[in-house]
Amino acid sequence: MMSKQLEENIKKAEGYLKRFRDGVTAHFINGGPCPGDSGRTYENLTPVDNASIGDIAEGSAGDIDLACQAAHAAFKDWRNTSGKARKKILNRFADLIEARAEEIALVESMDCGQPIRFMRAAAARAAENFRFFADKAPTAGNGLSLHQDEHLNYTKRTPIGPVGVITPWNTPFMLASWKTSPALAAGCSIVHKPAEFSPLSAMILAEISKEAGLPDGIWNTVNGFGEVAGKSLTEHPAIKAIGFVGETITGTHIMAQGAATLKRVHVELGGKNPVIVFDDADLERALDAVVFMIYSLNGQRCTSSSRLLVQRTIQAEFLAALEQRVNNIKVGHPLDPATEVGPLIHKTHLDKVMSYMDAARNEKATIVAGGELVDASGLGNYIRPTLFTNATNAMKIAREEIFGPVLTAIPFDTEEEAIEIANDTPYGLTGYVWTNDGGRGIRMAEALEAGMIWVNSENNRNLPSPFGGMKQSGIGRDGGDYSFDFYMETKNICIAHGAHNIPILGR
Ligand code: NAD
Repeated sequence: MMSKQLEENIKKAEGYLKRFRDGVTAHFINGGPCPGDSGRTYENLTPVDNASIGDIAEGSAGDIDLACQAAHAAFKDWRNTSGKARKKILNRFADLIEARAEEIALVESMDCGQPIRFMRAAAARAAENFRFFADKAPTAGNGLSLHQDEHLNYTKRTPIGPVGVITPWNTPFMLASWKTSPALAAGCSIVHKPAEFSPLSAMILAEISKEAGLPDGIWNTVNGFGEVAGKSLTEHPAIKAIGFVGETITGTHIMAQGAATLKRVHVELGGKNPVIVFDDADLERALDAVVFMIYSLNGQRCTSSSRLLVQRTIQAEFLAALEQRVNNIKVGHPLDPATEVGPLIHKTHLDKVMSYMDAARNEKATIVAGGELVDASGLGNYIRPTLFTNATNAMKIAREEIFGPVLTAIPFDTEEEAIEIANDTPYGLTGYVWTNDGGRGIRMAEALEAGMIWVNSENNRNLPSPFGGMKQSGIGRDGGDYSFDFYMETKNICIAHGAHNIPILGR
């Protein structure tokens, strides 16, 4: 039986989806919709039942060229627009996101299968991102004053130029806002290539850019596939930097493709993040965090803690409580406010995630919860939240990023062993530590090889703090001033105080 709230949400979502169903979702170039030069389209499917929710223009190299030219032409004025004026536009951006937050959340849930409870929060976070960088726009160009005896040096930052932003499908709207808001605050123009599996909210973002008052050409969106539209964007000579979020293997392609035009690249990639629970931790809170950080957002989250390292002294007790919680997680329609895990993005991704059930069996791990499809509608990409135990860190289920609601538990005895297992991975995005021993918390945080560590916490975000990974999880950092370092050039200006000695030749 469908709950009344679900029924209402479906009705509202259908209202918002109608325009996508009825027409072809175009690109957005130079301030307006653009059908694309090839006329080719692809079907966009909802993970709810794999039915089409409309056709999307399939971007070509020609479409990318048009968008890059528009971004190049518009950049000259935008770079000289005052920080105060940029701040006003970005704050208006945030207002408009808030005004359309319900629509964004409903459309996004249907497009990518993420539960509505998380997509409402993601829309709010997107507005916060714009507000945060709006406030920083007037001082983005600031630098340092560096004195010498006979010279004064000062630095200033200037926007790097038109930039390409390439985003994945796991939280499309929020991630697009996270990459684009600092670029705009810095004074860059943008060409955005959203993920092919979840293009709809990117169109809403493009519409908002126009309404917020961004000059034509500052914001451009080209839909389509990574191998064509994405690749052309990374190779285009007008584009000075690429902000990319996606898989590690794609990150390597981005770097190779951008090499010939010497692109600056920032790549935020995959993870196989450990959460380490010691026997001296507050186990109730640790359990809440462990469950949240792998089963929220369908486990399709780069920062998810997909490896649970649990101290052997509490292993039995902790895993028994965990198993119970995992079996209680409510899988269902993403628009149901009660749903905790929705359908996975696409059939191909579902097949990939399900292949790890066989891997677990082959390697003799135990599937204590989940491991199977959920027959919610019989048509969608629903899987039961899964917990593997009796695993070792050498197994495929502990080494590869599964990117689904699937957790692998591994026991350890000592602090040293926990560090060794945690760091024995090609990835280095995040690490989570649960202990009530303050010194141990610090020792672990220092020893873990990851860009972001949380001690007794779960992925709390602070917008000025650096966000990014080590090892195969990426290159570069976002957040606060770190974002400006990426989207801007730093220039040093050196001025003599007076008549210092100049070395003399040929007088
Ligand atoms: P993906 O790498 O398949 O695709 C990401 C984007 O890159 C898409 O827009 C795609 O069209 C484009 N693309 C693909 N090939 C390209 C190419 N050759 N040139 C240019 N663009 C190309 O990633 P996905 O499957 O959409 O997303 C899931 C991945 O994203 C996971 O690995 C996850 O960990 C990662 N992710 C990382 C972070 C982070 O901050 N580190 C955040 C979210 C997601």
